[in-house]
Amino acid sequence: MPNAMLIDGHLVAGDGDAYPVLDPATGATLAELNEASAAQVSAAVAAADAAFDAWRTTPPKERAARLLQLADRIEANGERLAELEAKNCGKPYAAALADEIPAIADVFRYFAGACRCLPGSAAGEFLAGHTSLIRRDAIGVVAAIAPWNYPLMMAAWKLAPALAAGNTVVIKPSEITPLTTLLLGEWLAELFPRGVVNVVVGRGESVGQPLINDVRVRMISITGSPATGRKVIEAAVATMKRTHLELGGKAPVIVYDDADLSVVVDAIRAFGYYNAGQDCTAACRVYAHRKIYDRFVADLASAVSKIKVGAQHDEDVEMGPLVSDEHRARVAGFVERAVAQPHIEAVAGGAPLPGPGFFFAPTVLAGAHQHDEVVRREVFGPVVSVTRFGDEDDVVAWANDSDYGLASSIWTSDIGRAMDASARLQYGCTWVNTHFMLVSEMPHGGLKQSGYGKDLSLYGLEDYTVARHVMIKHG
Ligand code: NAD
Repeated sequence: MPNAMLIDGHLVAGDGDAYPVLDPATGATLAELNEASAAQVSAAVAAADAAFDAWRTTPPKERAARLLQLADRIEANGERLAELEAKNCGKPYAAALADEIPAIADVFRYFAGACRCLPGSAAGEFLAGHTSLIRRDAIGVVAAIAPWNYPLMMAAWKLAPALAAGNTVVIKPSEITPLTTLLLGEWLAELFPRGVVNVVVGRGESVGQPLINDVRVRMISITGSPATGRKVIEAAVATMKRTHLELGGKAPVIVYDDADLSVVVDAIRAFGYYNAGQDCTAACRVYAHRKIYDRFVADLASAVSKIKVGAQHDEDVEMGPLVSDEHRARVAGFVERAVAQPHIEAVAGGAPLPGPGFFFAPTVLAGAHQHDEVVRREVFGPVVSVTRFGDEDDVVAWANDSDYGLASSIWTSDIGRAMDASARLQYGCTWVNTHFMLVSEMPHGGLKQSGYGKDLSLYGLEDYTVARHVMIKHG
C-alpha cells in the first residue's frame, strides 16, 4: 500500500499521530498511516512557495506536457488505481475502472490543452496615449482539500487547473481515503519539479487547519461539507485568501406527467444510488406529478429493490457499502426519523444490511413532504425521497426552497416546460431528461450553501488565475 507523503520532492512518512485506513466492505485495516506533523505541513507550504516563481514562468506548453504525461501514467495504471480506490472507498471495482479512471485522465488532458489557450488580451487604448493589456496570472500556493467520496477524481479536479495555470499546490486528501492520492504522489514526484506539488495526509483539525491558516497559502480550494466550507472561509479572512468552495447538494428531480417513466426510473435507480448515494449531485429528492405518482413509486421501489449490493469484486455488484460505520449510523438516523412519521413509508430498503462492512439497503422513502428533514438535509447515502406535486409553480418553488443549489434535473417531453423550469431553477446545473452527466468542458459548481467557484471548464481554469492590468504610456 502506498504510505508516503510528498514534501519538497521527497516521499516521506508522516511524523504525526498514527491511524488506520479501512476497507469499508470488510472493516479490515488496509494501511497504517501517520499524519503529517505541523512542521511537515509547514515544510510542504514552504516548498510550494519556493517553487512558485519558476513554475509560474514555465511556458504553458511545458506545464501541459507534464500534465499529459501524468494522464498517460494514470491511464496506464488504471487497473491498479481502480483497485486501490475501490478498496479504500468500498465502491465497485468495475465502475471505478470504467467510469472514473478515464474521466480522471481526461481532466488532466483537458486542462493541459486549456492552459495553452488561456486568454490574456490586448485591450486597447482607453486613455489617450496609453495602451492597456490584461494578463491572467497564477495566484500562488493553493491548498487543495479533498473529500472521501471520489478521492482521486476530486484531486484531479483541483490539481489539473491549479497546476495548468501555474500555481503550486499542497493537497490534503481525506484522512479516510488517502491511498490513491498517495500513489499519485509517487508519480508527481517523478513528473513535476521539486516542490510544485506536495501531498500531506491527516485529519481536518490537525493537518487541514494549519495548512489553510498558513499565510503563504494564497488560495484554498475545498470540496467537502458546508460546515467545513465555513471553517475555510473563517481561515481565509485573516490573510484575505481566495476561496473556492464545492460543498454539499440536495438535487431535486422533477418528474412531470408527460415524462417517459421507465427512463426516469432507470436513471434514478442508477444516479440516486451511484457510489451508494455518496455524491453531491445524487438524484435524491424526487418530486413526482400526482397523475403518475402511484405508478412511479411502485416502479421505482421495484427497480431499487433489485440493486445488487456487495463488495468491490462481487459478481454484477452495483452498489457498495457506505464509507464508514459512523457515516452509516448517520444515514440510518435520517431514515429512522423519516419513517417514524406517519406519512412516510420505506417502500424499498430502510435499514442497514448485516455482515462485515458498512452496508445499507438502497432505500426509497415515499410520501415525504417538503418540510421533512429527509427532503431538506443532505443524507449522502442510498436514500431517495419521493414527494407528490400537482402544481407546476409549486414544484419549482419547492425545488428552489433549499439551502443547496448544486444540481437539479427535470423530466418531461415538453421542450417549453423544460426551458421554463430550467430558467427558474436556482442551481449550478440543470439536466433535462438526464442526470449526473459531467464533462471536462462544462462547469460544475453550486449556488447558495453549495458554495461558489467552478470546477472543470475554462471557468475552472480562470478561478485559479488572477486578472492583472498592465498599462503602457506611449506616444
Ligand atoms: P468534510 O467536510 O468532512 O471533509 C472534506 C475535507 O475537508 C477532508 O479532507 C477533511 O479532512 C477536510 N477538513 C475537515 N475539517 C477541516 C478544517 N478545519 N480545515 C481544513 N480541512 C478540513 O466532507 P466529506 O465528509 O469528506 O465529504 C462529504 C461532503 O463533500 C458532502 O457534503 C458532499 O456533498 C461534499 N461534496 C461536494 C462535491 C461538489 O462537487 N460540490 C463533491 C463531492 C463531495
